[in-house]
This record gives sequence, structure tokens and C-alpha cells, in this order.
Amino acid sequence: STPVIAIDGPSASGKGTVAARIAAALGFHYLDSGALYRLTALAAIHRGVDFKSQQEVASIAATLNASFLEGMILLDDEDATETIRSEAIGEGASQVATHPLVRQALLQRQRDFQRDPGLVADGRDMGSVVFPNAVLKVFLTASPAERANRRHKQLIAKGESAILTDILQDIEQRDARDRARTVAPLQILPDAKLLDTTQMGIDCAVRQVLNWYAE
Ligand code: C5P
Repeated sequence: STPVIAIDGPSASGKGTVAARIAAALGFHYLDSGALYRLTALAAIHRGVDFKSQQEVASIAATLNASFLEGMILLDDEDATETIRSEAIGEGASQVATHPLVRQALLQRQRDFQRDPGLVADGRDMGSVVFPNAVLKVFLTASPAERANRRHKQLIAKGESAILTDILQDIEQRDARDRARTVAPLQILPDAKLLDTTQMGIDCAVRQVLNWYAE
């Protein structure tokens, strides 16, 4: 069947960039599963729904009117590409992601991305829940300090104000929540390859994953 490369790992590890580059190199489709949780959080805000109302958030997730175009993400036909990247939406995403009904509502939508000639899927539970039969599972990470640095640089480059220690704290909080939740916690699977990019550039990380895939 159509091959899937699952790339899981914590926030700001660079897995989004690496996953997209691998998809481009192989001519595969790309699933940014985090974007679905981010869009769910954004849609909940638009509708005035509390992140804690599991049922309501799950029905929003089930009926999410989202489309992924080339490098562009639409929610109800409006450009949400940049909006969903804020820290507030990232925080909201990690809250709505703790609800089993929300995860259930997004499951089939994620699996629908598995189309020929292949898929690179990026998230937290790609290898464990969504694509357990993935031909290659990678756990991509970097030290919290390095991830905070990268995120800080990104924000500064976008002209936003950012405080490194705050970012580090946010990152650690979000990771702790993603690891501690009972459904689909972030974890290193026994059949995953560990890729620590703390002292590694993107090119090198991409090459390593492509080499594993070719093995
Ligand atoms: O990867 P990204 O930072 O966009 O993900 C935002 C949040 O969505 C994560 O912190 C996590 O709580 C949630 N998420 C998830 N499962 C995924 C992808 C993201 O729970 N497969």
C-alpha cells in the first residue's frame, strides 16, 4: 500500500520544516496534523466555544471546513495560514488535543491524506495512532533550550517581540501536557528512529531521514 513516513516529536523541534522538505524530495503528500488541531482551536474561538467543552469542540472538529492548498491553509474560505501559528493558538491546540472525542473526529481526515505515491505525516501520534503501519517512524527532537532558541529567532524574524525565557517556559509547558495526556501522548515508540537535531542543521536532518527511508 501507499508508504507513509511518520515524523513525531515535540513543538519547535523543526519537524515541520524537515517533514515538508522530505515530502518535496520524494514527491510525496504532506500532512501537517498539528494544523488541524490549531484550526479546531481557531474555529472554537470564532464560535465562542470554550476549549474545555469536549462535545462542542469535537463537533467543530468533525465539521471543520478547512482546506490545504499549496503552502496555504484556509478555514471557512479565509486565509488562516499565519493566524494559526500564534503562541495563543498553539496553546489552544494543545488544550483541545487532550479530548479523545476531538482526536476521534480528526482521525479519518488525517488518514485521507494517505494517497499515492506516498505521505509524510508530521505530528505527535502519527506513528502510534494515525499511521501505526508507517514504513518509517522518526522521533525528531532537540533540547528544550535549542527549540526555544529556534522559535525565538522565528518570531524575531517575523518582527514580533519575544522573550526567550517566556518561550522556553511555554514550550516546556506544552510538551509536558502533550506527554502527560492519557490519549495519544507524545512518546518515543520502540520501532521509531531517534533523530536529535540539537546540533544538526536542517539539511543534515533531511538527509538522515532520506537515508533511513532508502535502507
Ligand atoms: O505541531 P504543532 O505545534 O502545530 O501542534 C500544536 C498542538 O497540537 C500540539 O502541542 C499538540 O498538543 C497537538 N497535536 C496533537 N497531535 C498531533 C499534532 C498536534 O495532539 N498529531
